[in-house]
Amino acid sequence: MSLPPISFEFFPPQTPEGAEKLTAARKRLAALKPEFFSCTFGAGGSTQDRTLDTIQLIHAEGHQAAPHLSCVGGTRENISALLNTYKEMGIKRIVALRGDLPSGMASIGEFHYANELVSFIRAQTGEHFHIEVAAYPEFHPQANSAREDMLNFKRKINAGANSAITQYFYNADAYFRFVDETRKLGVTAPIVPGIMPIVRYSQLARFSDTCGAEIPRWMRKTMEGYGDDVESVQAFGRDAVTQLCEKLIAGGAPALHFYTLNQANASIDILNRLGYRA
Ligand code: FAD
Repeated sequence: MSLPPISFEFFPPQTPEGAEKLTAARKRLAALKPEFFSCTFGAGGSTQDRTLDTIQLIHAEGHQAAPHLSCVGGTRENISALLNTYKEMGIKRIVALRGDLPSGMASIGEFHYANELVSFIRAQTGEHFHIEVAAYPEFHPQANSAREDMLNFKRKINAGANSAITQYFYNADAYFRFVDETRKLGVTAPIVPGIMPIVRYSQLARFSDTCGAEIPRWMRKTMEGYGDDVESVQAFGRDAVTQLCEKLIAGGAPALHFYTLNQANASIDILNRLGYRA
């Protein structure tokens, strides 16, 4: 089985210790020769400086760095300035998102949906950036219907996005069906599965409820049964996620994108089991 390219996602660390730990994790993950490292961006610009710092570090280490950029709460002026900064730094790839308005932030700003951001990036910077957008195999929580969500996904591709990274999921069928259905709508861009290794069940369950990613009942029940036994949860999670990746690779996934949560161990373990070697 030939192994597809991989990439890793981080969030911008909040403390000097967090930054040190992330540098160490990145060094270990870099040994697996990922295509790029990406770094998230707090909606409304809340992490703008820390995202920029993290991207600068990754770029200076000689890796391809892909900043996320979410437009909700932003202005054209502010986003244009950030795009110019990235362009001048030599950044070539961007993950373009709408984001979710942080509670307490009143104004949506000048962009309502990610397709508007993609159009804006193309208008401002031409073909300079490879633009990634988000895709939701189990559908976005605010979507009116599955079909509308897929049509909205297509808008982002038509606006000029090159490829997509999915929300994480644990049901491979949802991904394959999403790919098939959007292909029928005329989308040809690669759709890369987002992979969430399982490190802590309670945190994952909370997050999954809000972002609309389903943890199948058999997985929930198994992990709930382990209670505070973190080792058993992690061992189960590594088996389940490795099997998921095997199915995705066998079914033709064009690449795998790992949500690392700034930790290297779980991603490295799964990738080693799949046959990726440093
Ligand atoms: P959109 O594509 O704009 O879709 C949002 C909703 O609006 C969907 O329900 C869609 O069906 C609907 N919609 C879209 N376009 C239209 C339209 N033109 N008219 C009417 N309805 C429409 N969030 C962050 O804040 N920072 C990050 O760094 C970040 N990184 C992410 C990375 C990945 C790979 C993924 C999958 C998600 C990430 N998110 C991030 C979360 C994301 O911002 C949220 O899921 C957000 O709610 C939707 O963003 P989007 O870009 O998918 O929005």
